[in-house]
Amino acid sequence: MKHERLRRKVIATARRMNQLGINQGTSGNVGVRVGGGLLVTPSGADYDGLKPGDIVLMDFEGEWSAENPARRPSSEWRIHRDVLRERDDLGAVVHSHPTYATALACQGKGIPAFHYMVAIAGGDSIRCSKYKTFGTEELSVEVLKALRNRKACLLANHGMVAAGADLDEALKIAVEVETLARQFWHVLQLGKPKLLSKTEMNRVREKFAAGYGYGSGPDDAADEAAAGEAP
Ligand code: 13P
Ligand code: ZN
Repeated sequence: MKHERLRRKVIATARRMNQLGINQGTSGNVGVRVGGGLLVTPSGADYDGLKPGDIVLMDFEGEWSAENPARRPSSEWRIHRDVLRERDDLGAVVHSHPTYATALACQGKGIPAFHYMVAIAGGDSIRCSKYKTFGTEELSVEVLKALRNRKACLLANHGMVAAGADLDEALKIAVEVETLARQFWHVLQLGKPKLLSKTEMNRVREKFAAGYGYGSGPDDAADEAAAGEAP
């Protein structure tokens, strides 16, 4: 089967997302770039039972194929397809409904620079996109806007999207965003937080870019190539 190793990694990432407590049940989905398109989790899937043939292969036009004929691509395939098509800097996308990020998103709140780790998402805030119905092109358009110069955003009344150079980085950023959301929720109980300045956040971003523990590991395509599969 084409991309078998990467299909297994998509499944492992989806399971990990639930084990880490940043998603539950069949909510959420995972996508990763392959040559000419992407692999994406199937819609309504119980991640524990997934097999490589359940993962859907899609091109950037939205044409797809699954080894298992009972499978359909995630209802949010447009988000995965559009982010990977429009953003050369990103190779993988994780969408989930983590409790604290979703709680903030249900208030239409993004995460401001209350803590320096907000810079992990690429800027001095993590934006919250406008609400649009799940699985629509309109939602994907709003997500792309909220992700401008960022690797993560919240989705109003819905959840979160995190992306990275590869699956490991996308998952790591998703965990960080949920941690920040949880911390911010607590901070809000104490009153109005004192925010860090743009200058300070730029400084932190430069330190991250210089490699403070947040560079991604070997990317997925390189992993796959090393395993003797075409990217
Ligand atoms: P899928 O099961 O279709 O991937 O959808 C889950 C979800 O989170 C929709 O926003
Ligand atoms: Zn969702």
